[in-house]
Amino acid sequence: MDNCIFCKIAAGEIPSTTLYEDDDVRVIFDIGPATKGHALVIPKAHVANVFEIPDDLLGKAYSVAKKIAQALKETTGCEGINILQNNGEMAGQSVFHFHIHVIPRYEGDTANI
Ligand code: 5GP
Ligand code: ZN
Repeated sequence: MDNCIFCKIAAGEIPSTTLYEDDDVRVIFDIGPATKGHALVIPKAHVANVFEIPDDLLGKAYSVAKKIAQALKETTGCEGINILQNNGEMAGQSVFHFHIHVIPRYEGDTANI
């Protein structure tokens, strides 16, 4: 899709620090991290939200999110992890290309989720 920042990032047209990539998804660090290690799982196909994403790709994206969460758990020293995604402006979505947030949580962190 034209003019979608996450399409461009997922396709590698805009450089990003990539934690993981395969044919279906790219995982990057959030540009405005809620906490240290805040990652985003982004499907390469343009789908706006959970209602548009096919179930097989949804499952794949969550499976990758789980693996990223496990890796962050082992490397960041976090105490817990949020795995979540927003659908619609009223729900806090600001980029209208489906993505899953993986947010390590630390004692005393100031994340406002
Ligand atoms: P949403 O509010 O849509 O659930 O989450 C969008 C997230 O994308 C935000 O946490 C925001 O910081 C992040 N973001 C927006 N633009 C960029 C970008 O160009 N690069 C990266 N790495 N993250 C971005
Ligand atoms: Zn897109």
